[in-house]
Amino acid sequence: LAHDGPEALTCLRANDPPRLALLDWIMPTTTGVEVCQTIRAERQEPYIYTILLTAKSSMDDVIEGLEAGADDYLIKPVDLGALRARLRPGLRIVELHDELVKAREDLRYQADHDPLTGLWNRRALLSQLRKEFSRGIRAGRPLGVCMVDIDHFKVVNDTHGHAAGDEVLKEFAARVKRCVRFIDLAARTGGEEFVVIMPDSNRDTCVGVAERLREAIAESPMTVPDQGIDIPITVSIGVSISQGASDSPANIMRRGDEALYEAKNNGRNQVVCEAQDAPVATAQGG
Ligand code: GH3
Ligand code: MG
Ligand code: MG
Repeated sequence: LAHDGPEALTCLRANDPPRLALLDWIMPTTTGVEVCQTIRAERQEPYIYTILLTAKSSMDDVIEGLEAGADDYLIKPVDLGALRARLRPGLRIVELHDELVKAREDLRYQADHDPLTGLWNRRALLSQLRKEFSRGIRAGRPLGVCMVDIDHFKVVNDTHGHAAGDEVLKEFAARVKRCVRFIDLAARTGGEEFVVIMPDSNRDTCVGVAERLREAIAESPMTVPDQGIDIPITVSIGVSISQGASDSPANIMRRGDEALYEAKNNGRNQVVCEAQDAPVATAQGG
């Protein structure tokens, strides 16, 4: 219940506002039509269904009220049966609107998350990396990238089955999330391949994060709840650090991949950071 226009606005601007407003048209200071206009201009979501109550009954008045953004109007004196009947479509619109917003949010989530692990997917990772790279250049701060690949994961599937492999990937992702910092971005970019972006981080920090991640995986086996088995796994991690404006996201990832390749060749379960003086691009231009 609001006693005037300003009070109604306060109410409708709240975080969790009423979803349906019955507004008197003529009120001191702020009219119902002005409340309607303000709310329509200020907030799209959640949708607030508005019904104007008015003694004004000419067609021009009705048009003005609807053009101000009201969904419906009732002419005073209000018949309670008519009011009740008008609330039903209001409720339907509000519910439909909520369903649409939820469907849109679900789609948005699915578009940039990996369904198995809930981490960012490859598409989102690439767009985040481009963003963080530009931000780093502006701020004059490097960023690091960890290219992470589970060791001999094919053996896990071959030995325990694909379902167990999936459980391992989930537990793996949960550990990754736990041990990277709040500002880091973790993504699953392929089957058993993951990437962590470490914004605003120098070489030592990045290697520290990578080493912590490697240890968090190797220190205890992954549990597969349904099968009651524990599966020990390890990861190899390649780290690369951005080198200013002459560098590029694609080059950073390529150098990370090369470091990862080296970690695999050196015997796996280890972190390899690219050489401090690694050339930014390959001879072909990267
Ligand atoms: P390496 O140490 O050289 O990385 O060996 P690897 O076996 O991990 O590498 P390889 O690329 O040969 O095999 C990757 C395996 O990952 C093959 C595939 O069975 C498994 N894999 C990929 N995606 C999924 C998935 O979504 N679920 C499960 N369970 N396994 C997957
Ligand atoms: Mg692998
Ligand atoms: Mg792989």
